[in-house]
Amino acid sequence: LARERGRSVVLHTPSHAHTPQHRDLSLRADIRQAVAQQQFVLHYQPKVCPRLRTLVGLEALIRWPHPVTGREVQPAEFIPFIETTAYIHPVTQWVLNQALADLASLPEHLALSVAVNISAKNLLDERLVPKIADALERTGVSAHRLELELTESSFLSSPRFAREQIEALAELGVRVSIDDFGTGFSSLSYLQDLPVHAIKVDQIFVRPLLDTPRSATIARAAVELAHALGMQAVAEGVERAELIEPLAAMGYDALQGFAIARPAALHDALAAARDWAQTSPLRIA
Ligand code: C2E
Ligand code: MG
Ligand code: MG
Ligand code: MG
Repeated sequence: LARERGRSVVLHTPSHAHTPQHRDLSLRADIRQAVAQQQFVLHYQPKVCPRLRTLVGLEALIRWPHPVTGREVQPAEFIPFIETTAYIHPVTQWVLNQALADLASLPEHLALSVAVNISAKNLLDERLVPKIADALERTGVSAHRLELELTESSFLSSPRFAREQIEALAELGVRVSIDDFGTGFSSLSYLQDLPVHAIKVDQIFVRPLLDTPRSATIARAAVELAHALGMQAVAEGVERAELIEPLAAMGYDALQGFAIARPAALHDALAAARDWAQTSPLRIA
């Protein structure tokens, strides 16, 4: 272990990380250690209902406080790499366990859901469903309090098996949502018959809403599509307070974004959601 740690320190020194290959090797060694030592932490971002001004759920977002540099490494910097390796399995398992344990520790957990991001590779793991059933049982969280966020890319490589998995998850009572909706290279055919709880409309449609009429048209059409299919619509990337009322008026069931609360440690996220609920009364005609 000491040798491995030493090696990863050396490789992580910027002067040694000139080439992508070096950086890759360095990352691989560091990740191995991060997984073994569970160096990750979870932040949570509230999802709120704009009409009732209540907290409806929390999305778990992974961070990696790097043991050598001390920097909090963001998921965009390591999740895409982990997804190319088998480490994505223990990492997702850790996130799932931690998120469910955190939810179970909350007095308000009976009314809240927790969302975990699931990679395409996880969905193809035939042990995923039993692993989730186990984690629910161990933590005592009811299945419908767990939401799994999948992206459209999860349907690409083995659409048949992906469907079977989603059906099995729904049977378990777990909710499945489509993350980054509208940005994947996917057809809408999966919406015809899959048990999807919610679509999360990507921030690229939400952020320019007030300035770009076409974004507003897409954001509005997405809610209508979701509702017509009996699904909820969630807006991601609600970065400015001025977006809240228009999104509420469009019928969005839940909003998520910096204007409401940034991802933060569990209790900070809860406090931020409470502050928001108290300080931003909405007036909807
Ligand atoms: P995502 O699941 O779509 O998560 C939303 C991302 O948007 C988060 O970035 C969040 O911090 C950010 N965000 C939220 N509100 C706003 C806003 O108002 N403005 C802007 N500009 N951004 C906002 P984060 O935490 O860096 O995560 C990035 C992506 O990494 C996630 O996108 C997800 O795809 C992936 N990810 C995060 N945690 C996990 C995990 O535990 N497992 C897996 N497999 N992927 C994860
Ligand atoms: Mg997500
Ligand atoms: Mg997203
Ligand atoms: Mg994303």
